[in-house]
Amino acid sequence: MFPPHHIRFTVVAALMLLCSGSVLLGSIHTIRKGETLYGLSRKYKTSVSKLMSHNGIKDHRKLQIGQKIRIPGATSTGSGRTTAKAVTQAKSTSSVSTVGRGKTVIIDPGHGGKDWGAYRSGVRESSLNMKVASKLEYYLKQNGFRVVMTRRSDSFLSLSRRASIANRYRNAIFVSIHFNATRNTMVRGAETFYAGAAGRQLASSIHRELAGKCRMKNRGVRFARFAVLVQTKCPAVLVECGFISNSSERARCVTSSFQTTAARAIADGIRKYRWR
Ligand SMILES: [Zn+2]
Repeated sequence: MFPPHHIRFTVVAALMLLCSGSVLLGSIHTIRKGETLYGLSRKYKTSVSKLMSHNGIKDHRKLQIGQKIRIPGATSTGSGRTTAKAVTQAKSTSSVSTVGRGKTVIIDPGHGGKDWGAYRSGVRESSLNMKVASKLEYYLKQNGFRVVMTRRSDSFLSLSRRASIANRYRNAIFVSIHFNATRNTMVRGAETFYAGAAGRQLASSIHRELAGKCRMKNRGVRFARFAVLVQTKCPAVLVECGFISNSSERARCVTSSFQTTAARAIADGIRKYRWR
């Protein structure tokens, strides 16, 4: 039910270029008509010489439309602004792509196969979970994390199997991706669950980014003894990215731009988590 892996990434990348007025793709900037290295240096709070050396550019006048420029050590917000915090981070790390080195993230797209999870108005939770999970995988890899997916296809996987996959890895965290539903169609918002102390910190870090960047109602970080949280040995969280039982939230959740924002926010939360 999902396109082959490489095609999916191409589509994700293309969509991100299309939907962002700011042409931001991780720390890559695609040159548009009229853009200059000076303009980029202002935009990303860096210098022309750094941009040139980072990209092996010898002549700054020979910039081409469509050319991909790597931004040295920059993290950018969706609006194209670079926050003071991002600048500090950029200074403290030589390259964003090494942040996750030696760290494994087990991404668990919830449900799958015969288990659709929630289902409302033609929207299947299991496929939404996979869409966000795939984008999350992309962003984490951009940051140098090793990523393990508990499932890549629309197949059924027991909860204990998901946990046992996670338990094979050291220096790892487990992130289960879900969407929510309830009978009360007014209920909406994001919530993140944990079952242990380390999971709680991870949940806080992820949830702060998710609720903020997706501008969703913040239902908070919550304790729950879900099987995947209890059976995993590493810090584990279960992220509920929104309610598909609420019509307006459902309309948003199915869009690629929302899924991209949610995946980026979760990746940011993972990056900021103090790994132990
Ligand atoms: Zn679910």
